[in-house]
Formats: sequence, structure tokens, C-alpha cells
Amino acid sequence: MIEIKNAKKSFGKNEILHDVSIQVNKGDVIVILGPSGSGKTTLLRCINFLEKADAGTLTIGEQTVDLKKASSKEILEIRRKTAFVFQNYSLFHNKTALENVMEGLITARHVPYADAKKKAEDTLAWVGLLAKKDAYPCQLSGGQQQRVGIARAVVLDPEVILFDEPTSALDPELVGETLAVIKSVAERGITMIVVTHEMSFAQDVASKVVFMDGGFIVEEGTPAEIFRHPKEERTKQFLARII
Ligand code: ATP
Repeated sequence: MIEIKNAKKSFGKNEILHDVSIQVNKGDVIVILGPSGSGKTTLLRCINFLEKADAGTLTIGEQTVDLKKASSKEILEIRRKTAFVFQNYSLFHNKTALENVMEGLITARHVPYADAKKKAEDTLAWVGLLAKKDAYPCQLSGGQQQRVGIARAVVLDPEVILFDEPTSALDPELVGETLAVIKSVAERGITMIVVTHEMSFAQDVASKVVFMDGGFIVEEGTPAEIFRHPKEERTKQFLARII
């Protein structure tokens, strides 16, 4: 189980996360929706300590850490249990697709080179990119780069993968292939928290949809509850604008 409790975060005088709590069961796919600037990315970044929150706790399995006061050792332990898929892929440009996928196994997990290579190749094959293993990111399409980004996260066997708008930098024709790969990550039973504006993906894949606005969780429920029977006025207005 993963639980974020009472997370708060300000940038200067702007309070971006007011008091956010989310519970995630093992194997859940949580989709976070909300208007631009509502704090979705900031929440994901606080979970992975890419940003330090001002208050709150994070529990992953048996471990609970203070989001503000976690020690470097605790942060490292949390990072070992989480993986992040970025909007802009964030691949190493001077490394091949295979080397990008191997990197975390070798540097963070200390897996022997031959084992890391085999595992990375298997994972690249699974995202349909084994034939491109020696290509550099600049030789890959945006969709292919993001599939390498997903392979790089999945190969680490994390307890949860955090996806930050994984398709929003892609040309429209490449969105479908990337969402299909993300869907197959979900089908492997991997716990995921996904920030996205892709409503059909949310309806199809989410076990729970969380609607955020202005740094608060306004409403959460199953896709059917949120999309067909939203209770809150702000959720209704948001959905009316985008569906
Ligand atoms: P979008 O859907 O547009 O990506 P979001 O819901 O993910 O939006 P965030 O990226 O979390 O929203 O940003 C929330 C607010 O926090 C925004 O007003 C943004 O300008 C501000 N913000 C985010 N990061 C920083 C930062 N490092 N310094 C100052 N302000 C920031």
C-alpha cells in the first residue's frame, strides 16, 4: 500500500498543495486529472523527492517517511521503490536506448553488467524496441523515446511508477502507441500514479480517478463515478470543458 498523507507545498508565498492525501492499493492505477496549475506535477515530484514538501508523510509498504524531514538515506530508499516517467522523456542523450535502460540497474541496483544487459534487452523487446537498442535518443521518434523511458522505469521493478503527462509532448499520431504500452504496464499489475489529460485512457485503465483543483483533491472515485456521476460542481465544469 502507498499512502500520501496531508502533503503541503508552497513555492514562495504560493501554496500549491494545500493538504493532499491519497491512498493507493497494490496494483492500482490512479489517474490524477485537473486543470493546468492545479498541483498535479508538484504532487508527483514530492512523492519522489524531486521537490521537498513542506509537510506530510509518505508510506510505501512498511516504510513511512516525513516528506519534509526525510534523511538522505530515507530518500534513497524511497527512490529505490519508485520510478518516474517524465513528460519530456529525460533520456541520457549520449547513451543508446539499451544503455539508458541499463543505467539504473547498474548504478542504483548494482546488478552485474551481463544480467543488466539481458534484463534491459528483455524489457526493450517488451516495449517493441529491441531492434532500436543501439540507437541514440536523437535517432528515435518521440513515441519511441518515451517507450525507452517506460522501459527504464519498468526494468527496475519499482513498487510504484509515477507518470507525469507521459504523452503530452508527443505528436497526436504517436500518443496511441505510447498509451498502449502504458496500458500493458498496468496489465502487469504494477502500481501506477498517472497524471494525464487523456480521458479515454483514464476511463479505460484507471482503478481510481482523482480530480485536483487549486491544490486540493476535489473528488475521487472510479472512472464511472467521476465521468458519469461527478458530485462536485468543479469536477462537472472541468469535464464539460474537456470531454
Ligand atoms: P499542468 O497540467 O499545466 O502541468 P499541474 O497541475 O501539473 O499543471 P504544477 O506543474 O504542479 O501544476 O504547478 C502548480 C503551480 O506551481 C503552478 O502555478 C506553477 O507555476 C507552480 N510551480 C511549479 N513548480 C514551481 C517552481 N519550481 N517554482 C515556482 N513555482 C512553481
